[in-house]
Amino acid sequence: MKKYNFNAGPSILPREVIEQTAAACLDFENSGLSLMTISHRAKNFQPVVDEAEALFKELLDIPEGYKVLFLGGGASLEFCMIPYNFLEKKAAYLNTGVWATKAMKEAKLFGEVVEVASSADKNFTYIPKDFEIPTDADYLHITSNNTIYGTELRKDIDSPIPLIADMSSDIFSRPLDVSKYALIYGGAQKNLAMAGVTFVIVKEDALGKVSRQIPTMLDYRTHVKKGSMFNTPPVVPIYSALMNLRYIKAHGGVKAMEQLAQERAKIVYGEIDRNKLFVGTAEEESRSLMNLTFVLKPEYQELQDEFMAFATSKGMVGIKGHRDVGGFRASCYNAMSIEGCEALVACMKEFESNH
Ligand SMILES: *Cc1c(COP(=O)(O)O)cnc(C)c1O
Repeated sequence: MKKYNFNAGPSILPREVIEQTAAACLDFENSGLSLMTISHRAKNFQPVVDEAEALFKELLDIPEGYKVLFLGGGASLEFCMIPYNFLEKKAAYLNTGVWATKAMKEAKLFGEVVEVASSADKNFTYIPKDFEIPTDADYLHITSNNTIYGTELRKDIDSPIPLIADMSSDIFSRPLDVSKYALIYGGAQKNLAMAGVTFVIVKEDALGKVSRQIPTMLDYRTHVKKGSMFNTPPVVPIYSALMNLRYIKAHGGVKAMEQLAQERAKIVYGEIDRNKLFVGTAEEESRSLMNLTFVLKPEYQELQDEFMAFATSKGMVGIKGHRDVGGFRASCYNAMSIEGCEALVACMKEFESNH
């Protein structure tokens, strides 16, 4: 049976990206050596990092003055690296869920943290609007897509202070105005690559503004200076990212990815809204195009386990909702096909007609 991978992360990747990475693990560029066993300083690996950075810049139209880094530690390590490198006295955070809250917790170790707005009052089902950004804060931190709650900002906001964004789960799903950000970061394992690498897009002249001492490995300037090669970077995950960046380029770039995301969302949200059994959890104007969350209506709650089993029997994988939301979550990253979304919809329709 065909499986449709709706996992929230690590998540679906194009088949060819997986095949190319697997092939390189057996024989890297006809060298007779596995990608897993070569030196990151080998002369045939440097071009991998260089091309990955160049494709980041090309696909996201990154202006001059920015550097792209490939690091370890996941988005979670960035939660502390950001205040380490940017927080002198005070930082502002927009609280849109679990990940934003975790980022705030780390920042509090370094100084004052102002929560500019929060959607905790309604279990993070919406993105707050019209909040005030304190102009005396060192930066504003946002989470552009809330993987758990299925909400997304989906635009580049204007900020009078340096803007920093966790884009773990929506990077490369739409064109960006990178010039509005001081730093963009994320774990690669949602929409970019296999797990194990963290991407950081940083404006070079935004660095070096804090007075504290920063441990070498946690100082972004170390990695800028050494081109992500200060220590051994995650070689295989970076290679998988490069394969996916090539795939994105060959398939029309981020504009085409955005159009596909809109098509998928129309199909799946369309069915969530039509089907008598289900209801979406996020407010309509905050709905994510990446993580589509829905639950059974109160009067059908007892069908939870039955729908999970039914969907699983039809090949749907990873649609169980996060425990903080319940119900179901269909994560539809770049590699999810329209056919996959149609299969999910067919499954929801069939389940409805059985009840
Ligand atoms: C998954 C996720 C994280 C955590 O990423 P790790 O790489 O596991 O540390 C942080 N932020 C968002 C928005 C995520 O979806």
